[in-house]
Amino acid sequence: MPPKDLFSLHGRRALITGSSRGIGLALARGLGEYGAEIVLNGRNRDALAQAQSQLKEAGITSSLSSFDATDQTAVLSAVETIEQNDGPIDILINNAGIQRRAPLEDFSREDWDALMATNLNAVFFVGQAVARHMIRRKRGKIVNICSVQSELARPGIAPYTAAKGAVKNLTKGMATDWAKYGLQINGLAPGYFETDMNAALVKDKDFTEWLCRRTPAARWGKVEELIGAAVFLSSDASSFVNGHILMVDGGITACL
Ligand code: NDP
Repeated sequence: MPPKDLFSLHGRRALITGSSRGIGLALARGLGEYGAEIVLNGRNRDALAQAQSQLKEAGITSSLSSFDATDQTAVLSAVETIEQNDGPIDILINNAGIQRRAPLEDFSREDWDALMATNLNAVFFVGQAVARHMIRRKRGKIVNICSVQSELARPGIAPYTAAKGAVKNLTKGMATDWAKYGLQINGLAPGYFETDMNAALVKDKDFTEWLCRRTPAARWGKVEELIGAAVFLSSDASSFVNGHILMVDGGITACL
């Protein structure tokens, strides 16, 4: 197979949760540029419509599926609707996520539940709903968005770290259970990227200084820099890669 075709996503449909902005929207654009038909997801319909117009301007076909990824009933119904109306979901990027910051001793039960629901439960709910169809077809790619926080703690975000650590191991578990059905499930672990989730940190000079000292690449990541890894894990280029967590973090987890 010529090298360029290894990365082609033509004829594949990708559902990307949390793709109205940030990393999810960048991955929608990136996978779309490699030929995938995109199903955008998020809870805010207006934001989704705006994301869809941006993709359209870039010549990328997409449809919208607005559902709350923490609501298992809504997830099951949305996945059935996509499969029936649009067609098979060949690629799932489990990307929807939230952040809550507070010292662990002050962390509220409400914030804990919200973090676990979005960052962990949703990965299982959407992953399982889509995998059932993929298992029937005996093929499919799932990419779970992990984090450097799957490996490392940082002050004030212990519950996020716990959830992302669990997503790393859920990814390995999914691969262990579903590889025999022809599925590939891998993780993509971003370092620190300039998105709405990190808006306060981007403005915080002390944090940026710490980040640049701590990261061998000495800068924030740009969301477009996640596209190559996502296309790799979604395409035939990664045909024997399973249960792997690919760090895209400027080297931050490579050194102390
Ligand atoms: P953003 O806050 O910019 O975007 C989050 C997206 O998720 C939005 O589209 C949001 O839309 C959607 N979303 C949130 N909750 C739900 C839900 N319950 N159901 C469906 N969609 C939902 O975040 P980022 O782009 O920064 O982060 C994306 C992923 O990458 C997350 O999993 C995050 O943990 C991870 N990550 C981010 C890093 C970074 O540096 N930015 C680093 C490492 C990992 P809406 O609110 O309308 O539902």
